[in-house]
Amino acid sequence: MKIVIIGAGAAGLMAGAIAALSLKSRQLDGDVIVLEKNRKAGVKILMSGGTRCNITHDCGPDGIMEAFGRGGSFLRQALAILPPDQVVALFHSLGVATQVESTGKVFPASNRALDVRDSLLRYAVEAGVDVRLESVVKTIDRDGDGFVVRTEAGDLAADRVIVTSGGRSYPGCGTIGEGYVWMKSFGHTIVPTRPALVPLVGGTPWMHDISGVTLDHVAASVWNNPEPGKKSDKRPTMTRAGGFLFTHQGFSGPTAMDVSGSLTAARDYSKVRLTLDLVPERSLASIESWFDETRKRDGRRKVVAAITDWIPKRLAEAISSDAGAGECTFAELPRASMTRLCGNLKQLPLPVSGTRGFEKAEVTAGGVSLREVDPRTMQSRMVPNLFIAGEILDLDGWIGGYNFQSAFSTGHVAGLHAAQ
Ligand SMILES: Cc1cc2nc3c(=O)[nH]c(=O)nc-3n(C[C@H](O)[C@H](O)[C@H](O)COP(=O)(O)OP(=O)(O)OC[C@H]3O[C@@H](n4cnc5c(N)ncnc54)[C@H](O)[C@@H]3O)c2cc1C
Repeated sequence: MKIVIIGAGAAGLMAGAIAALSLKSRQLDGDVIVLEKNRKAGVKILMSGGTRCNITHDCGPDGIMEAFGRGGSFLRQALAILPPDQVVALFHSLGVATQVESTGKVFPASNRALDVRDSLLRYAVEAGVDVRLESVVKTIDRDGDGFVVRTEAGDLAADRVIVTSGGRSYPGCGTIGEGYVWMKSFGHTIVPTRPALVPLVGGTPWMHDISGVTLDHVAASVWNNPEPGKKSDKRPTMTRAGGFLFTHQGFSGPTAMDVSGSLTAARDYSKVRLTLDLVPERSLASIESWFDETRKRDGRRKVVAAITDWIPKRLAEAISSDAGAGECTFAELPRASMTRLCGNLKQLPLPVSGTRGFEKAEVTAGGVSLREVDPRTMQSRMVPNLFIAGEILDLDGWIGGYNFQSAFSTGHVAGLHAAQ
């Protein structure tokens, strides 16, 4: 049996290792070949997590599924076979100790993505996988029950093909979306792709002036704008809490990037709005009553100095001045300014006009429709012996190791079943 895997990323290397081990364990003859266009395997592993590689998240399968929204349930069977704790156990067995951060992100204890890439590559090669670098796949054609994989260096016959060629994000890494064209040619539906986990473009002049200001614990929310004549929604469509960064062009950091997919899903930014809760641990009512009490108790106190206890000074100055509170003391603070300031502390409107695009998107939303892939095997429901795993699928999760977990689990299942 010859299994050809296209793409030596997290999904492809895992699929290769598991396919080769599965053949070996049943003493079956077979070749497992991974074709990779780059000079190096696992380029995205190397650059991930700021070159530290956040390999998974410290949670159970349900926590992983939640991070993928509506697509999450597709991962149920794959996560039952390779849940997050098994990913950690696997890396331990490969000599990569791990550490869990307070956010739940799991990193190698060495903080070196290189250790993750090297161990995974070694796992595949020692299992017997032939990893061929600088092998650019052009097309895949059906040939009887099998396939011909056409590369720049020549044709390769295969009984089974696993496509793990990734999405369209960071195209400079080689992921330019060729896989979607091959899958379309086999009759698969490609859910329109869009950038996700991507920095946002937008903001106001004062927001740009405070570029570089980071916030450790805020909550970003996406709201649907009401249709003309209709009431506003009472609840946001999505909220993510965590770190945030003001940039020259707009907004970045985990919360901004986590909600980006929800914003790009709207396609028309006028239909949605983004707000930032600068003090998630306080309610609007408690902030307003605190302002009233401080006005009575400590009227000579400067407003900026007081809210600097809650948020960074540059931001405190900027939102105070935006609210017309400038250098005011509590006693001098006009009622309208107080209302605006309290409102902005809880729901600061962040105007968004776009994103930094696929060039800066950590993942691609959209891709091969999940309805056309068997979640128990990762086999195409349209083309027997064709398996699909990793980011090429219509799956995108939050920041936090969820996307590698999905690539590892789906790659594992594809490798296991391609070798049956
Ligand atoms: C900057 C950055 C940081 C990230 N950090 C994290 C993180 O810390 N944690 C996390 O969970 N996720 C992270 N991600 C997301 C994560 O990298 C992806 O979800 C994951 O790599 C997807 O794995 P994959 O194997 O499906 O695809 P990829 O890793 O993209 O692998 C696909 C491979 O296929 C190859 N290929 C494509 N076309 C061809 C062709 N025609 N011929 C031959 N080979 C081809 C590509 O070169 C590539 O090596 C990050 C992404 C980026 C861009």
